[in-house]
Amino acid sequence: MVYLTDVLAFISGFFIINILANSNDILFNEDYEFIDLSYPFDKNTIYSPVSQNFMFIKKIGHFDDEGSWYASNDFAAGEHGGTHIDAPYHFKVDGKYVGDIPVDKLIVPLIIVDISSKVNNDSNFVLYKHDLDYILNDNMRKPCFIVFKFGWSKFANDKSKYLGITKNNTYNFPGISGEVAEWITSSYKNVVGIGVDTASVDKGSSTDFPVHKATAKAGLFNVENVKLDQHVPEYGCTALILPMKIALGSGAPLRLVAICPKRS
Ligand SMILES: [Zn+2]
Repeated sequence: MVYLTDVLAFISGFFIINILANSNDILFNEDYEFIDLSYPFDKNTIYSPVSQNFMFIKKIGHFDDEGSWYASNDFAAGEHGGTHIDAPYHFKVDGKYVGDIPVDKLIVPLIIVDISSKVNNDSNFVLYKHDLDYILNDNMRKPCFIVFKFGWSKFANDKSKYLGITKNNTYNFPGISGEVAEWITSSYKNVVGIGVDTASVDKGSSTDFPVHKATAKAGLFNVENVKLDQHVPEYGCTALILPMKIALGSGAPLRLVAICPKRS
């Protein structure tokens, strides 16, 4: 006797296998490239002034008597340094922790907003609404992660230039205005997070952090220190935003990858 449940189980099993096969067929047929948008974590990684720098302790690394290699190290680091995510909890007491951000908000379409020519290396540039007129189009209707490219990754090897450190130890690098953050979070409910190729979504000289507050309030995450010293298409890529799953984290180190159609 054949039961209906068995038939349904067979059919659903068939579809699951079919769907998995199709996603692999699509991603690994050499039409797509995987672009790493993360900086390595090492002694040069840039951290916020209140965070612990990346500390790497080489602990074990040796061949045993049989000639087999074994290595295991320790590390310690602040949450907010290098390529990293800010969870809403960073600026909102009842906001989500890193460990609570669902994966369907971390694998989404990527939009790069390249404003580097407008910034033109000006460390006091702030992005206002009128700078974004051209990006208002259909792409904004899909769930998405928007990364603003200020053209700052080229300074990443020079910490004092990248942060714009002055004699008084203040910072100067470009950022988004509170106006833009409020506008995005109130007008575009499909935006799950925003990123920048600088050390903070707020301008370096900010003391009141309006962008951090606006995104946290709306439940968005931020990604800072995105490595954008390479070409990434403005549309058509998928972002994999996969931080270390620190359960109660206000932020976490992140491996950020874009899956993009290969340019012909
Ligand atoms: Zn942060």
